[in-house]
Amino acid sequence: MPHIAQLSPHVADLIAAGEVVERPASVVKELLENAIDAGATAVTVEIQNGGMTYIRVSDDGCGIAPEELPTAFLRHATSKLREAGDLAAIGTLGFRGEALAAISAVSRLDVFSRLKNADSGATLHLEGGIPDQVTETGCPDGTSIIVRDLFFNTPARLKFMKRDSAESTAISGLVSHLALSHPHLSVKLIRDGEEILHTPGDGVLKSTVYAALGRDFALSLIPVHALDGAMCAEGFVTAPLSGRGTRGMQTFFVNGRFVKSQLLTAALEEAYANRQMKGKFPGCVLFVSLPFDMVDVNVHPAKTVVKFLNEKSIFDLVYHAVCDALDGGKKEEKPKPVQAVQNPRGDFFQTMTAAEYRSQTPDHKPVFKTKIPPVPERTPIIHISDVAPKPIAPVAPIVEHKPIPPAPQKPIEMPAEQTVLEPPQETPWRIVGELLHTYIVCEDENQNAWLIDKHAAHERINFDRLKTNTAPVMTQQLLTPLVATLPPNEYTALSEQFSLLREFGFFCEEFGDGSIIIREIPADIVESDAVSALEEIAGKLTVSHTADPAAARDELLHTIACKAAIKGGWTSDEKELRVLVDRVQSGEVKFCPHGRPVAVKMTKYELEKMFKRA
Ligand code: ADP
Ligand code: MG
Repeated sequence: MPHIAQLSPHVADLIAAGEVVERPASVVKELLENAIDAGATAVTVEIQNGGMTYIRVSDDGCGIAPEELPTAFLRHATSKLREAGDLAAIGTLGFRGEALAAISAVSRLDVFSRLKNADSGATLHLEGGIPDQVTETGCPDGTSIIVRDLFFNTPARLKFMKRDSAESTAISGLVSHLALSHPHLSVKLIRDGEEILHTPGDGVLKSTVYAALGRDFALSLIPVHALDGAMCAEGFVTAPLSGRGTRGMQTFFVNGRFVKSQLLTAALEEAYANRQMKGKFPGCVLFVSLPFDMVDVNVHPAKTVVKFLNEKSIFDLVYHAVCDALDGGKKEEKPKPVQAVQNPRGDFFQTMTAAEYRSQTPDHKPVFKTKIPPVPERTPIIHISDVAPKPIAPVAPIVEHKPIPPAPQKPIEMPAEQTVLEPPQETPWRIVGELLHTYIVCEDENQNAWLIDKHAAHERINFDRLKTNTAPVMTQQLLTPLVATLPPNEYTALSEQFSLLREFGFFCEEFGDGSIIIREIPADIVESDAVSALEEIAGKLTVSHTADPAAARDELLHTIACKAAIKGGWTSDEKELRVLVDRVQSGEVKFCPHGRPVAVKMTKYELEKMFKRA
């Protein structure tokens, strides 16, 4: 029988440390929160190699007395909590008294601190949690903590760390969120010697947003302010025409804490229904404040999830707040948001609240694709399910023909190695026409009807070509280079991938102040799409944390394939359509790179059933 023995304090500390310090970003988070708790007005974060070799956080806060320096690094040592009763009334960010102990246990750490108006400061070095002697030193007011060689004594953890670039990206994201939620604090972030963020600390949210998320984003903002009893939603949302290709610019805070929330995303996006371009997402910096008993804050401090007691009231608060802002601050009552979705039984136009809808969506992602316009003026359009045709109510299939504005035309780029660009002459299928300038209608020799999404099909063809292509990519040099201004985390993520971008035809360079200059773009992307393509790539890289180089590459290919494809709504000539149909009919192209179907097939029997002929 194995004997039971108590772990040595050293091993116990290392285990506990692992729970608090997961990665460099968790060190930065704890140190920043300590600086805020110490009443700092300015704080500087400096990192090298994604924080793995060097992290410095310096503040101008109250400082730590020399004789208390060693105590601050003991486990369960805190100045923020004395008795159990204090737990209920906690106002500071950290209160477990564990961060400094944990960080010092897995690094080589130096602290310099001086109390306000003291004659001198003091410094202490710790290695794997073991402190040296405190010595007197000259240093500015406040506290500076330098953390070197994180996880040097926990090789297992070290091995699990992602690449430096992923860690830098995580840190920039975290620092900009913290800066946004503290406009009175001036926050500076220096990465490998380069200043990538510096907020003014003037207490004005808009100037903080400008500094943290970039000029372009800040200039597109509409203020939001709504009160509902004890609840409040305020901040900024983007103007409908300024949508982005990803949700990367949606930043939510609940009671000052950065959170990710499907509910808040859904409420925001619902307010843009029928205002935002397809495939674009609104951006925001929104602060939701609630009485503490309406939200579960008792979640792990490193997590960003949040639980609301009354989801519907939060959804309504945010939805109406954003609607009012988009309507120019009008305070009229808005009709309740209505979803048109297909319920599990297969009938259409079921009305549900967003929460009910989400609870039925297996992956809990907000999916708001099908909508009933508030006042239906037009003849109903028959909806055909994406995956398989379902019986639908017999309605007159008359679709009003609106004049479609002249659409840009764009030739289809076919693989370089394919010498025959001509579509096949003799085919076992026939194109019947095109619907909504988006779907190719055709029939095959077996009497099946097909609807083919021309953009999705072309995107897939492009994607496969890029993926297998070994020849250098054709590029076009821009006469006037373009400039993209990105928020720090996206800037970091993208600049780490310049060589990959180069490989696929984007020649970019750093341009200072979070800007990137674009000198060359792939030949099959139009110039006006180049900046949004890079923004989209940056957004995706930020989300996927670029941990896996193959994933980063795929994200890049997706975006290029999409931007280089003919778009739904564009006029295409029949030759182009025939090339696409040929690829679909040959079975070569089935799903777009995002996994959406490229074509919907209906058999003759299914059609006959719909019309009650069979
Ligand atoms: P906690 O923040 O939960 O109290 P920490 O381990 O993070 O625990 O810090 C321990 C103590 O060290 C804090 O309670 C505080 O008194 C002191 N301290 C830490 N960082 C700072 C700082 N930047 N400025 C002043 N005091 C600090
Ligand atoms: Mg703390």
